Amino acid sequence: MWVVGLDMNEASSRTIGKTKLVLMQGDITRQSTDAIVNAANSGLMGGGGVDGAIHRAGGPAIKEECKQIVAKIGRLDTGKAVITTGGNLLSKYVIHTVGPIWHGGGHGEPDLLASAYRECLKLATERKLRSVSFPSISTGAYGYPVAEAAEIALKTVVSFLRSVSTTLEEVRFVLFDLGTYRVYSSALDRLEGKT
Ligand code: ADP
Repeated sequence: MWVVGLDMNEASSRTIGKTKLVLMQGDITRQSTDAIVNAANSGLMGGGGVDGAIHRAGGPAIKEECKQIVAKIGRLDTGKAVITTGGNLLSKYVIHTVGPIWHGGGHGEPDLLASAYRECLKLATERKLRSVSFPSISTGAYGYPVAEAAEIALKTVVSFLRSVSTTLEEVRFVLFDLGTYRVYSSALDRLEGKT
């Protein structure tokens, strides 16, 4: 008999240092990690994709805090991160970061993408958070090729977890579609093969 798991989301996990690294297919707005990461834009005023979904699910308190941040520090530079309340979300906090827009790869995109992940992990550690969920930053409207972005995302997280003492017990990648999940999953296999 065939058992077709079409309604089953795929997931996998390993341990890096003391931290569990999880890859799963799913909706980041439904995660109960201490924080979820928003692939925001510099204006921090919401938008499409995961940004819109997070603001819709979290309610107006998130945008209110974003406005205050922009009033204080101006637009958020690419590769940087800030933290706000999670509003009505299950997560207590949202970490907003700005990934690079893909312009062909020769405009500092890899370093800026790595920086976006690293700044979020630093912020989560400074706040002594135990768990954080990431979406696939820059691979939607910002056009970053998924395979290249996945390699950078995973390399950056793995090297952070190996080299920095962190309160994080779990780092979760929540990939919206199965195709993206599979690309991240093979990128992690390749990364582990190399190390
Ligand atoms: P960017 O502007 O950084 O490219 P997008 O939001 O357009 O950000 O896309 C980033 C990734 O987030 C894409 O893979 C998209 O499919 C995914 N995404 C969209 N909605 C959600 C969600 N609710 N949970 C997780 N990932 C999501």
